[in-house]
Amino acid sequence: MHQRKQAGHHLRNAKIRATLPAAQLMQAQVNGGKLIDDAVSTKPDALEPAFSIFSAEAKRFPLILTLDQNGIPHRWITWQHAVWYYAKQRIAWETGTEAFTVSGGKCQATGEVSSVTAASIIAIKGKAMAIRGFNQTPPLNNRELFHRDRHVCGYCAGVFSHSKLTRDHIIPYCRNGIDTWMNVVTACRPCNERKGSRLPEEAHMQLVYAPYVPNRAEFLILANRRILIDQMAFLKQHVAAHSRVHMA
Ligand SMILES: [Zn+2]
Repeated sequence: MHQRKQAGHHLRNAKIRATLPAAQLMQAQVNGGKLIDDAVSTKPDALEPAFSIFSAEAKRFPLILTLDQNGIPHRWITWQHAVWYYAKQRIAWETGTEAFTVSGGKCQATGEVSSVTAASIIAIKGKAMAIRGFNQTPPLNNRELFHRDRHVCGYCAGVFSHSKLTRDHIIPYCRNGIDTWMNVVTACRPCNERKGSRLPEEAHMQLVYAPYVPNRAEFLILANRRILIDQMAFLKQHVAAHSRVHMA
């Protein structure tokens, strides 16, 4: 139905059905189901439903990567949200090598079992992020910061687990250092305490790597630990050359 942008790709088609509880199947029912009713009865400008990617249900399946209609990476969504886009015919094009088929209920009139197949990477019609959007500074969180720095302490170069790491302000917060990607590095607790409210040079502690601002594609990589191979390959094309993501 939809033209694949990269023709000739072999699609590995994962069936989600087997592991879905009945309630979820009902929700995913497309043909003759509630979802299709919603799709036709809702005004086109209606707000998109909220499908949390942090719900327990969402965590059981890989997330789908959405792009704007120009192919710029946009965000992660749940497969339920992807099914909603398919039902609304909002898919501009698909790419990726993975696909997920969600089966719904039986249509009373035809006896056919409804299903929808969602690709692992989908471009959404009508979404055109300005380049400004792509270059917008992503939010600073410890999880993504530690991931940016590959869980390596910026001062002793040791590798630590998340719970043993801290956010170090290169120019200390108490000396008007700001809380931005460029002024923070990952540091182990002992190094952070040793440095205290001093600048690295005052503490005779040299940074072993430089901070940088991840772009949106990199942030999407940093924010999802269950990225499919095809999604990772797509996102890496949009990551800046200096990024540590390329070292992985
Ligand atoms: Zn350290």
